[in-house]
Amino acid sequence: MECIFCKIVSGEVNSKKVYEDDDIIAFNDLNPQAPTHILIIPKKHIESILDLKEGDMELVGKIHIVAKKIAEKNGITDFRIVTNCGKKAGQSIFHLHFHFLSGRRFIWPPG
Ligand code: AMP
Ligand code: ZN
Repeated sequence: MECIFCKIVSGEVNSKKVYEDDDIIAFNDLNPQAPTHILIIPKKHIESILDLKEGDMELVGKIHIVAKKIAEKNGITDFRIVTNCGKKAGQSIFHLHFHFLSGRRFIWPPG
């Protein structure tokens, strides 16, 4: 398996994990774009939002509950969740991930 995030899930590649359960892990981004930059990913390999199946509904919902848990655990009330889908939108790793960004101001509309 050539997917770097699958290797993080299996432990073959190291990461600084901040959350883990049976279906989801969250770890610090290697190249943080904000003081807090965590990636929340399903353990199952799904390339992007476009590859989600009806049966993944609970998993995607759970990822947002994990975001809430991470926020509460760290006393964070202001944050941004971003998912890039497709190269032109900025996706560089084709294993679904949700960026949890906090600790600075974010512009809207996004760049
Ligand atoms: P995206 O560009 O939306 O696909 O996001 C991929 C993210 O993965 C980027 O923010 C990278 O900094 C991050 N990243 C790449 N490799 C690793 C790694 N080994 N550990 C942690 N984060 C990584
Ligand atoms: Zn993968």
